[in-house]
Amino acid sequence: MFDEDSRRLIESLAQRQGFTDVRWVAGEDVVVEQWVRFKCSYACDEYGTRACCPPNTPSVSECRELFHCFEHVAVIHTEKTLAPGEDARSWKREANAKMLELERQVFLAGYYKTLALFAGDCSLCAKCVTTRADCKNPGSARPCPEALAVDVFATVRKLGLPAQVLVERTQAMDRYAFLLVE
Ligand code: SF4
Repeated sequence: MFDEDSRRLIESLAQRQGFTDVRWVAGEDVVVEQWVRFKCSYACDEYGTRACCPPNTPSVSECRELFHCFEHVAVIHTEKTLAPGEDARSWKREANAKMLELERQVFLAGYYKTLALFAGDCSLCAKCVTTRADCKNPGSARPCPEALAVDVFATVRKLGLPAQVLVERTQAMDRYAFLLVE
């Protein structure tokens, strides 16, 4: 049974990975929209270059169905300001590795359905590939919520969390990973 103790346990496991801001949303309240998929298909210059992003993802209706399989989604907020010259991809790789470790620990605690979604594209490898079949690390690769047609802005704003369009590389970023759990 998933109860308040379950939440506390997962929040403490998240904290051990350095994730200190964890909020909760029901899977059915995650906002999944067709327009997000269109943005990936027509407004992303990396379309077709990543194994965990569209077109290598399920349909929007299948994505919506996925979130409906989970009563609980931990929304994990990280604020990050890149230092001058800092490589965003290295930072993402490190954060995503921590999410994988969190997923592993939550699974080992008995929450067998647990699934992590990364804050941003997978980035575990220095160079990604164009198809799932060619993924160099398929056991560890995870999509980000946006790749599953999630309107992250709308979802996190419902929780009172910040989400804004950035206009400068030097601005603080609010990044969101999800942990689907039950
Ligand atoms: S594990 Fe590597 S090849 Fe696979 S999706 Fe992630 S970055 Fe791409």
